[in-house]
Amino acid sequence: MQTPKLALTIPCFNEELCVESTCTRLMEVLDDLIQRNIITADSYIYLVDDGSCDKTWDIISDLHDKHPQKIKAQKFIKNFGNQKALIAGLEGVRKIGCDCVISIDADLQQDENSIEKFVKEYQNGNDIVLGIRNDRKTDSLFKKTTALMFYKLMNLLGAKIPVNHSDFRLVSRKALDVMSLYSEKALFLRGFFHELGLKTSYVKFDVKQRSAGCSKFNPASL
Ligand code: UDP
Ligand code: MG
Repeated sequence: MQTPKLALTIPCFNEELCVESTCTRLMEVLDDLIQRNIITADSYIYLVDDGSCDKTWDIISDLHDKHPQKIKAQKFIKNFGNQKALIAGLEGVRKIGCDCVISIDADLQQDENSIEKFVKEYQNGNDIVLGIRNDRKTDSLFKKTTALMFYKLMNLLGAKIPVNHSDFRLVSRKALDVMSLYSEKALFLRGFFHELGLKTSYVKFDVKQRSAGCSKFNPASL
């Protein structure tokens, strides 16, 4: 298989404390993969600012000015929520162009060193690679309980969502093209990509503490 052009997409809501260090670290990861010829040199990062009211967008704009080829972004005029930001990220990179895209959070809780494993799975012919967290040690008791209730309820209703898959996921260009055929605007991506029927594999990863700031989900949104 040809060396793929990789995009990383990051939803960001009021992430002024993390966004710069996260982009710096992810640019290092991209550079390393480029040096080793695992991804192409025009691989890039695509941020979606989900209506932040802090300095997140100013920081992203500065990063883009310094690294115009590496850092691209769009901003929502208001906060639409993490799923809408993820969907916009996937639609954005489909327009710009890539062979595959990985979504990852702005706080870098998901282990960026696993990115290479996702790309390897893609090169082995998988269109979807789902990141599965090794444990939920970093979650509060409230989060653990609501997550368990959520998976149980969804499975009872017939939606087979892989347990402990956050939105750390690779999807291929082909999967993005299939997604673009759906007119549904409120897709629940964890269920959607799992049910598509495209060749899927899994990468286990360690969850870290949030790099800075606090969770952007409140009990009501959970
Ligand atoms: N996020 C977003 N819009 C929101 C809430 C969160 O784009 O309304 C982003 C957030 O900036 C982060 C990701 O979604 O990149 C996951 O959020 P967070 O880390 O706060 O969630 P947790 O790890 O606490 O589940
Ligand atoms: Mg987080």
